[in-house]
Amino acid sequence: MAETEDPGLRGRGDGRHRLLPALALVAALLTGLGVAVRLPAVAGLLGTSLQPPPPTLSQSSAGPGPQAADDGGRSIVTRMTRAVRTHDEAAFLSVAAPGSASVRDRLRRVYTGLDTLPLASFALTVDPGRRSETVAGAQGARTLPVLVTYRLQGWDDAPLAVPMLLVVAPAHGGWVVVDDRTTTDSGTDQRLEPWLFADVYLTRTAHVLVVGDRDHAAQTRRLARTLETLTADVRRVWPERTWNGKVVVYAMTSTTFVRSWYGRSAAGDSGNGDRAAFVAKVVTLPSGGAGGGAVRMVVTPYLLERPKSGSIDVLRHEMTHVATARLGSGVPTWLVEGAAEYTGFARRAGDGALDATTTFGRHGLTAAEVTSTASGSWRPTLLGRPQFYNGSEAAVDEHYNSAFITCLYIADRYGESALRRVYEESARTNETTALSQVLHTTRGRLVTAVGAYASTVRNRLVFR
Ligand SMILES: [Zn+2]
Repeated sequence: MAETEDPGLRGRGDGRHRLLPALALVAALLTGLGVAVRLPAVAGLLGTSLQPPPPTLSQSSAGPGPQAADDGGRSIVTRMTRAVRTHDEAAFLSVAAPGSASVRDRLRRVYTGLDTLPLASFALTVDPGRRSETVAGAQGARTLPVLVTYRLQGWDDAPLAVPMLLVVAPAHGGWVVVDDRTTTDSGTDQRLEPWLFADVYLTRTAHVLVVGDRDHAAQTRRLARTLETLTADVRRVWPERTWNGKVVVYAMTSTTFVRSWYGRSAAGDSGNGDRAAFVAKVVTLPSGGAGGGAVRMVVTPYLLERPKSGSIDVLRHEMTHVATARLGSGVPTWLVEGAAEYTGFARRAGDGALDATTTFGRHGLTAAEVTSTASGSWRPTLLGRPQFYNGSEAAVDEHYNSAFITCLYIADRYGESALRRVYEESARTNETTALSQVLHTTRGRLVTAVGAYASTVRNRLVFR
């Protein structure tokens, strides 16, 4: 399945400022400094395959044959599915090996997490994409790779399919679950769902559902309230006809959970050294069938525990990726990131009108850009994948700045609705057609116009 994701903040610890001295002073006068953040990332297609090998629990092993194992696996997932649908914890736990307290505890945790969710649909099936393997040590035991496919009522416009890995063994003429390796199997790089963990805590506002943990209930509620206010900012640019206006957020603090989504790149992960760190990302998960699955925003404990004013721009940027996730994957990366950066950073007057000068000043420039916009020689570099995300940190910063300033120009000169129409038309056709039909321009003329615009706004910022 294709997936889209967006690693939020790139290599910017808190307290570091991305404005360079010349503009930073001006920005300080304007706003009191603030933006430490930069947000990169992506929205492209990273392959995760959940595909083929044929469905089988075969291969030789001691104990009952492959067919018995297949039947046993199917029986187990059928019973677990029915148990969740009917809110029957005892039935769910009845698949556990008799007398195994640890397996029962593990399954109870999963059941409790799932039962916390407002499920519109739910099914556990044997995963046709992964093979069952024999497990050393236990008589006849083998892995049972399963897929959990579900959709949240009122939140998800598509289902999502997530893998689990159980271990089953023959017992008393049938098959039972003897282990759940979903969160412990070291070979897995899959993203872990919150309901696999203990003490799941849900909180919701009108447009935001946050799945966190009970130990951080107050922070989780605060995050939900913050995000709720941001949905209004994002809807202003991206009205609900293109998305359902809802955001499902994972905000778990478990290190195992965080590393399953970020590796060591989460902000605040001490194992990350001085490499790029991220505070939030957006992922379109596999649906288990045709088309993209549900979209999730995943925030790090860093953001949950230490909210910063600059984080607001990051969160708005990420939420824009949620809003545009259904518009199509063919949009050029500079436009995907520029539109998110524009939506994230847009500053407005009291009447809601864009304040382009303040928006430009809050965002910042690299040292080279400070010089080239002063001399009038600066031009935006509008890149697609993978070039957009490649290069030194300064180079990638400049790709984002180019994308941002170009989208700011489009919104300022033609209006925010034109920015949205360029995006939608790019998804439908291509960049050239979108620029021609919506803006009546070409890439060459756009680049020249944006270069002149950047110098004008920069000088207005410096001298006002
Ligand atoms: Zn982004």
